Amino acid sequence: MPKFEYAPAPESRAIVSLRESYGLFIDGEFSPGADGRAFKTISPATEEVLAEVTEAGPADVDRAVTAARKAYEHTWSQLPGQERAKYLFRIARIIQEKARELAVLESLDNGKPIRESRDVDIPLVAAHFFYHAGWADKLEYAGYGPAPRALGVAGQVIPWNFPLLMLAWKIAPALACGNTVVLKPAETTPLTALAFAEICQQADLPPGVVNIVTGAGETGRALVTHPGIDKVAFTGSTEVGKEIARACAPSRKKVTLELGGKAANIVFEDAPVDQAVEGIVNGIFFNQGHVCCAGSRLLVQESVYAEVLASLQRRLATLRLGDPLDKNTDVGAINSAAQLAKIRELSEVGEAEGAQRWSPPCELPVKGFWFPPTVFTGVSQAHRIAREEIFGPVLSVLTFRTPAEAVEKANNTPYGLSAGVWTEKGSLILWMASRLRAGVVWANTFNKFDPTSPFGGYKESGYGREGGRHGLEAYLDV
Ligand code: NAD
Repeated sequence: MPKFEYAPAPESRAIVSLRESYGLFIDGEFSPGADGRAFKTISPATEEVLAEVTEAGPADVDRAVTAARKAYEHTWSQLPGQERAKYLFRIARIIQEKARELAVLESLDNGKPIRESRDVDIPLVAAHFFYHAGWADKLEYAGYGPAPRALGVAGQVIPWNFPLLMLAWKIAPALACGNTVVLKPAETTPLTALAFAEICQQADLPPGVVNIVTGAGETGRALVTHPGIDKVAFTGSTEVGKEIARACAPSRKKVTLELGGKAANIVFEDAPVDQAVEGIVNGIFFNQGHVCCAGSRLLVQESVYAEVLASLQRRLATLRLGDPLDKNTDVGAINSAAQLAKIRELSEVGEAEGAQRWSPPCELPVKGFWFPPTVFTGVSQAHRIAREEIFGPVLSVLTFRTPAEAVEKANNTPYGLSAGVWTEKGSLILWMASRLRAGVVWANTFNKFDPTSPFGGYKESGYGREGGRHGLEAYLDV
């Protein structure tokens, strides 16, 4: 299928006004860090420096936790749920008003296509605040007792793949349940969290209810180990998640961990091939594969393997890789040089282990961090590319003959975050779903998110749920 020629359709970045440097958002205002340290955040598509951001040290984290404690005790925990709800509704509406600005900012800092930040990330961010605003005055009906109490101060650490959306998953339920928060965004994508701080100011949120401290791993460690934190919520790698679990084990802190994944996307012979191919593409090439629940292992029934693979390769040849701000772009930039190095390394390991590597013809921009959509065939379960999370646009294809074999292969992983099943038979979907060890099982679709639906993992994908009624439990003293 030839690629249509499209004229460039870049979204204007004029709507975003970046400051040269950003302080820490503590107690309702921006202030400098105690020791004056700072780092730069860049656009991964061009390597252009976007802004300088303060690196919070232990004294800054302490100041933020103190502000959050004061706000919890004197303001936020005293407010009735319906008053908290008003603030959350106000924040949700401001996010909608600023949707275009936030989408451009997210694509600039993260490298994801504007089509995704505009149509997926930002609408879901607003939806999360609207949904939790609805819960704030109805917590007694959530199934956690007649008067469920908040926990206190939440320390929250998030990754770079969905920066503002992960912030919403953390802050919206925490505030709805009556907690105050100190949140640390990822070091490569701090800008939308800082824009969110300005939204809190615009919404007149009482000072100290939301505090944003920027920095890397050390700042995160100072936050989650701070004795003034009652609840730790972490999304990120399994390795760091284990470290946090160990650090919090001797304390009374309540911990939820949303970690990595290696999801199986399973295509049966009766599945509509064109739809399944769209689902496979969405499953692993959405957000450059920087998705914890990405369908990075494709399991195809042997009888339709050739047909599915040919159709997938035809479809991949139509994907457009390039400028994240161009509305025609399907595949944006890899978020950082470090992540690109990891994707390259594991892809080389895949070849060295004997799998066959394929990418469509695809010109990569000279500047910035880029990796073409890549498919590995001839993959066995023992290969590292079938076991380890690559967190990039790389798909490993395996085959199976029977549903039982598909279940066995899909579950043969230390992770358990998500899975996809493609078949015309409803009974087979239910049979599979009850046997797959994954927090989410999508049927004839993939990567669908909704604030009403709980999300979370089994095994090394973490514990606790985010979203839905179940997600409230993490922020209540139950
Ligand atoms: P990461 O674990 O390296 O970093 C995540 C966050 O933790 C960052 O903000 C980082 O600064 C901070 N951090 C690093 N070391 C820390 C420490 N010792 N103590 C406290 N904080 C620390 O992960 P990443 O590379 O940014 O993100 C990718 C990973 O996140 C992938 O494994 C992916 O699967 C996972 N992820 C999971 C979900 C989910 O919901 N399960 C969602 C998105 C991403």
